[in-house]
Amino acid sequence: MVKCRQIFHKILDVIYPPTCPLCDADVSRHGDLCDDCWTAINWIDGPKCSRCGYPFVSGYDFDDDTLCPVCAAGKNELDWIRSACVYDDASKQVMLPFKHCGKIKYYRFMANAMIWALRDVDVSDIDIIMPVPLAWRRLFHRGYNQAALLARPIAHAMGVKMDFDSVHRKYKPDMGHKNARQRAENIRGVFRVIHPDKIRGKHILLVDDVMTSGATFSELRRVLMRAGAASVAGVSFCRVVRGI
Ligand SMILES: [Zn+2]
Ligand SMILES: [Zn+2]
Repeated sequence: MVKCRQIFHKILDVIYPPTCPLCDADVSRHGDLCDDCWTAINWIDGPKCSRCGYPFVSGYDFDDDTLCPVCAAGKNELDWIRSACVYDDASKQVMLPFKHCGKIKYYRFMANAMIWALRDVDVSDIDIIMPVPLAWRRLFHRGYNQAALLARPIAHAMGVKMDFDSVHRKYKPDMGHKNARQRAENIRGVFRVIHPDKIRGKHILLVDDVMTSGATFSELRRVLMRAGAASVAGVSFCRVVRGI
């Protein structure tokens, strides 16, 4: 069976040679980025907050348990968060077409990068992978939930089931460029657990494409914990990084 699949992929490679999803340069494997596109992205691979994954300026000595000021002040309630890269001009070239222009083929390298971002956290107790739910109205307009596209390969790689129907999200207009406090207020109350039986006692990993202020993850965690979840962690492709 495995051999059969290998032959099938080899034939596919001849018909559709693997190319970089961003610039169409030749690459050795489907879904990989070319070297130029790979190095343009600001991957979070240096010292970071052990809890929320916030990247620290390199050049200083950090041990594995160092916390950022937000986590040290107890303001991050998730068990942990990891992101693959920083949200900047380079990752925007990925995020915006992926989210708004139907470039769903990007999902493969984005999900691979998110799996890589999980390398230093213990995921052995995770029971459920949950993409951040999209309101029906937005799903109808966009045609897909970008977080669910990313969550599926992550769930597959971890051998964990995906849950995309236990939480309902109410539609609210875009948050635009609001600050962290306004974002938290705007998102408050939009999620509702409709299948608490599937949540109770579970260790849940939330998946999103971008983390801005963390308000979405925090609010989702709040309703999941109230429904009896055992723990809630999060992973995103990129995250907004402001100087701390
Ligand atoms: Zn490229
Ligand atoms: Zn932190």
